[in-house]
Amino acid sequence: MITIKSKEQLDLLQSIYDGIDTAIFVIDVTDDGDFRYAGTNPTHEKLLGITSDWITGKTPEELVPTISPKAATAVRANYQRCLDAQETIEYEEMLRIRGKNMWWLTRLTPLFDDDGTIYRIIGSSNSINRLKRIESKLIDERKHLEDLVEKRTQKLKKANEKLQKEIEERTAIEEELRVTNEQLVDEIETQKAMKQEKEKLVAHLQERMKELECLYTIAEITKDDTKSIEKALQECVNVMPPGWNYPEFTYSRIIYNDKQFTSKPFEETNFMQEANLIIGHERRGKLQVFLSEQKAKELKKPFLHEESNLIQGIAYNISRFIKKRITDQKINEQKERFLTIFNNFPEILYVVDPETYEVLFVNQAFEDMLGSDPVGDKCYEKFQGFDKPCRFCTTEKIQNTKSPYTWEYYNPILEKYLLITDQIIQWPDGRDVRFEVAIDITKRKQAEEKLTLTLKDLKRSNEELERFAYVASHDLQEPLRKVKSFTELFANKYKGSLDEKADRYIHYIVDGAERMQILINDILSFSRITTRGKAFEETNLQHILTVTLNNLSRMIEEHRATITYDKLPTVIADDSQMLQVFQNLIHNAIKFSGKEDPQIHISAKETSRFWKISVQDNGIGIESEYFDKIFVIFQRLHTRKEYSGTGIGLAICKKIIDRHGGEMWVESQEGKGSTFYFTLPK
Ligand code: ADP
Repeated sequence: MITIKSKEQLDLLQSIYDGIDTAIFVIDVTDDGDFRYAGTNPTHEKLLGITSDWITGKTPEELVPTISPKAATAVRANYQRCLDAQETIEYEEMLRIRGKNMWWLTRLTPLFDDDGTIYRIIGSSNSINRLKRIESKLIDERKHLEDLVEKRTQKLKKANEKLQKEIEERTAIEEELRVTNEQLVDEIETQKAMKQEKEKLVAHLQERMKELECLYTIAEITKDDTKSIEKALQECVNVMPPGWNYPEFTYSRIIYNDKQFTSKPFEETNFMQEANLIIGHERRGKLQVFLSEQKAKELKKPFLHEESNLIQGIAYNISRFIKKRITDQKINEQKERFLTIFNNFPEILYVVDPETYEVLFVNQAFEDMLGSDPVGDKCYEKFQGFDKPCRFCTTEKIQNTKSPYTWEYYNPILEKYLLITDQIIQWPDGRDVRFEVAIDITKRKQAEEKLTLTLKDLKRSNEELERFAYVASHDLQEPLRKVKSFTELFANKYKGSLDEKADRYIHYIVDGAERMQILINDILSFSRITTRGKAFEETNLQHILTVTLNNLSRMIEEHRATITYDKLPTVIADDSQMLQVFQNLIHNAIKFSGKEDPQIHISAKETSRFWKISVQDNGIGIESEYFDKIFVIFQRLHTRKEYSGTGIGLAICKKIIDRHGGEMWVESQEGKGSTFYFTLPK
């Protein structure tokens, strides 16, 4: 704070205050924070055109219109700013005073009371209009200069850029030129090398061309299917030397199947290349290439690397050709064989396209039967004489079932009964075709028909015979009984009253009549097997055997026979007839026993279709030549004196078994016993 110590000092200050060119003004800060002017120096008075007295006590706003309202607002804001800052502030301001814009550099200094409160602000303003003008001019000039600098800078920048670009381009061109130059040098060298390489390559290619040509020619030679192996091999050796590096000094040879084929000229030398002819995994020959001795000695490397590949390639080609020719030959031979078989096959064989009905193949036998070659014709026209496919064509059937179909057919064109088998087979071209085998069964058919007729006749005559036998035996019984009884009466009455001879005759008559009666009875029972047979029903053979043994118990006892048996089955049969069979067989087994006591065994064996029953004895046995004869009616092997009987028993057994659909036979060894067998279907 300035402290005034003397009157001189005060005067000095007063004179400064009055005389200074700076506008000084004092502002009191009121208690309510408002600003009121407390005085102003003459410069300020002059500037505003007012007096210090006038201004004293006035607020900034009260200076209007001396200053503009906007200037008043700005003035107050600055006073407030000083108040807030609590220190001296300095600032430039433009105020409109008395209608004129003026620039001021103003300084506000606060005065503090003892409490430190600002109670007054001393302001001083200096006009800086001139300065501002200079400044503005300077700014304009600077701006102008800056513009100039900017423009110049831009120009320079552009020039610089252009220069830079030019430098870069030049550098690039230089670089390029450098590279190009290097490249050029390189290229010249490369081209030189390439030329050499090319020359080598051309030479190499020419060699390969020769080799390829050689391989190609060999492939052509071995392509010909008609050429003989020998001819092809000779042609191959002829074309081989030109494929080698020095054709004029190269010779070739093929050894196959102990035969040699050589080029012309030919020379066998120590300089050789060879390859094997491998056919079906076997080494069957050799392929050799020789180089003239003299020439080879001059060379560093007589054979090229590629030439060993070439000879292998040729050997492979020739091996393949030989193999194919051998296979072809085999196939042809087989084809010939099949054709020979087909053509000599005495029955019909043919092949038809099932889609078009076109005949594709017929064997010679069929062609001969038809009298012309039908291949290419329609089967139904040629074989049947129809104008459209046969109604009974089996194609669809065999196509659907994919299996052969056999049928019988009478062909009116051939006038033959045929047993035909049709099936689908694959023709060599891949299509499905109909293959037919037709066997002529005309003779068999005729024989069958004849047999059927004969059988019919036989059946009829058999029936007649049986009827006759029955009627005869039945009707003969009555007169025979009469003959027998009257003969017996006659014998009783006259035996001993006539001479001896008469007695003998009477005996013969009675005996004959008795035998005739037995025979007639036998015929009757024989014929009754079929005429009086009962219906078949379940028959327990075990039970039948028990009844049989019961019926024969006396005979068994008398002969001290031992009878053993297995378990017998139940069968479908006529029980009375079964009883008859068992009875006849066991009766015979006891009757025809030898010196030993009879040992008889009855057994049964089962098969899938029938039962096999056997009656085995230890009797006299039968010679094998009589095995059939004994089953014929009235056939006997012994006299009545040796063994009683009429020879009907086995015939009856056989006829019964026949009626049951079975078979009967005997196995025997003379003196060792017999076994009679019969079967009964299940
Ligand atoms: P018969 O017994 O009335 O002679 P068969 O027809 O029963 O008539 O027999 C025919 C013949 O077969 C007999 O005469 C006999 O020679 C022979 N024969 C039959 N059974 C036997 C048997 N078990 N052992 C040996 N021979 C037999």
